[in-house]
Amino acid sequence: MSVVIKLLGLQELENEIRATEKALEASRGKLGESQALKKAREKVNQAESIFNELSSRQKSLEWQAEDLKAKLDRANEQLYSGRVKNPKELSNLQHEAQLLSSNISKTDEETLEVIEKAETAEDALSQQKETLRQVEAEWQAEQEELKNAIPGYQARITELRQKRDELIGAIDEQYIRIYERIKLQRGQAVARVLQGACEGCHISLSSAQLQRSRSTNIEKCANCGRILFSE
Ligand SMILES: [Zn+2]
Repeated sequence: MSVVIKLLGLQELENEIRATEKALEASRGKLGESQALKKAREKVNQAESIFNELSSRQKSLEWQAEDLKAKLDRANEQLYSGRVKNPKELSNLQHEAQLLSSNISKTDEETLEVIEKAETAEDALSQQKETLRQVEAEWQAEQEELKNAIPGYQARITELRQKRDELIGAIDEQYIRIYERIKLQRGQAVARVLQGACEGCHISLSSAQLQRSRSTNIEKCANCGRILFSE
């Protein structure tokens, strides 16, 4: 096997290691609670607090109405008991009863409005709970997938690194040094020759260079300095 093929193999191994490391990192980054899950939970909490507020408002209005009705009953009882004879006192009692009746009507009206709002809020709450349930199920499935994928990536990286080390051991050190130096400057040290041009810089090669790139010796692109690989 020519040294160029080995160097290309080394480059491909290193590229795959990098891609797998990236995938592993991305998977790790997705572990834990997602934004979508946090948002869905927050919406449930908001809907819940709106509903709870309306419910307690409804209860307090109902108590208020009961209280007013008890007062009205007492006023009416006094009015029609015949015990109160003084016209001024009777007129005061009548006035009080009227006021209480009017307040009861107002309270009942408000209670109905609040009940309606509470019903709407309850619907919204159950809708948000359903959304949360769906988001949670999706999130859980994704987490399971991630947890399963991570050990696979780790094993693959170990395997690839081992292959890389073996390959490096099989290449003369001077070529490794050349490879590393070009890699440092260009990112990728080996470039394929595609339709007579260097894959790295896309500049056409001279026929002499093309010829040499097919030999077993290392031939560098005259333009970018990458090691040329011709099939
Ligand atoms: Zn080039």
